[in-house]
Amino acid sequence: MISEYEALQRVLAAITPLDSHRVPLAVALDGFIDRDVIATVPIPAFDQSAMDGYALRAADAALESLRVTGEQPAGRDLHLQCEPKCCVRIFTGAPMPAGADAVIMQEDVQREGDAIRCVDSVEKGENVRRAGVDVCAGQIVLRRGERLTPARLGLLASQGLAEIEMPRRPRVAILSTGDELVAPGSGPLAAGQIYNTNALMLVGMLRRLGITQITTEHCVDDLEATKACLKRLTESHDAVILSGGVSVGDHDHVKPALHALGITPELWRVKVKPGKPFLFAQAGDAFVFGLPGNPVSTFVTFLLFVKPALLRLIGAGERELKPALLSLPLAEPMSNPGDRPHYVRGRIVDGRFESSGMQQSHAVLALAKADALLRLEAGQDLAAGACGMVWRLD
Ligand code: AMP
Ligand code: MG
Repeated sequence: MISEYEALQRVLAAITPLDSHRVPLAVALDGFIDRDVIATVPIPAFDQSAMDGYALRAADAALESLRVTGEQPAGRDLHLQCEPKCCVRIFTGAPMPAGADAVIMQEDVQREGDAIRCVDSVEKGENVRRAGVDVCAGQIVLRRGERLTPARLGLLASQGLAEIEMPRRPRVAILSTGDELVAPGSGPLAAGQIYNTNALMLVGMLRRLGITQITTEHCVDDLEATKACLKRLTESHDAVILSGGVSVGDHDHVKPALHALGITPELWRVKVKPGKPFLFAQAGDAFVFGLPGNPVSTFVTFLLFVKPALLRLIGAGERELKPALLSLPLAEPMSNPGDRPHYVRGRIVDGRFESSGMQQSHAVLALAKADALLRLEAGQDLAAGACGMVWRLD
């Protein structure tokens, strides 16, 4: 059995971003840019006032009175000149008049008719934003693979860009396997049945990645049916995520179905709890992720392997694939007597990690309460107050 790190490396090694296309910035939120962006517009674009006040020569502030010779609002450069012993009324964001080297804020000035008296000193450069101090033309402002956060969309907009290149988002199929599954909303359960929990959970996790072209299907525990579903879905999607049926029970048909289709999994079984039977395969141009059916196993293996894989597919750079790990003290002792790393479901309360309840892989309530996972190494014992590696969930 391979480690989760090796499994992730193998999955990622198989994946390159999908083809890029141009999209309006307005729909690029949380996507990943496919090019380095080089600034063409300096920010600020021109020397400008940072305050409402008066533009002047700093040395003149000590004079008894300065004549106001004009007014420069934001929006249109009037190309005003500030002569010695004079000043220009100016507003935030307005271009600096030639000759002026500072702006005194209006609160530090007494105005009488068309003259002012400065009641405070002002230094050369004070309240002036110099062209290019924030961003210079020619500077790389965004790197390929960086996430398009709201602030970064603002940065691109400040460059006058309305469109960018990003990889297209994938079409993903979710295939729930199991004779016991009943679609929520389709009526009461007969004895032995359960409602399909994983499909909607996976849809939610995909939507969090900005993936909206999602097909959901159900397949009974039958080899021929599994083969047919897999064939059809891998031919029409970029990725197929199966839940259930990846183990070695008599009713687990995913591996035999792949085999019958001539597909050898790149990996199967990973040293992690929950999630051991995780499977990854390539079927033509599609990637197949086989997740164990217990909902917590589905959830954890999605986070560990499918999420980074899909992030890479949509162009995320290396940094963006890493989980947000924190070192946090534990509110209670926790131990992992097993021989696989264990991801414990829990919550961060007052800066400490505590279990959110039952830790078996079918336990959906503790999963639903969790806002973080604690990674306990095989054989690791942690006392209350000791620090553990906590993965904050989004
Ligand atoms: P399997 O991986 O098919 O052996 O399933 C393991 C456990 O997960 C069984 O108890 C299944 O009933 C359960 N399970 C499988 N698929 C789902 C699903 N979509 N929603 C909820 N539970 C599931
Ligand atoms: Mg099953």
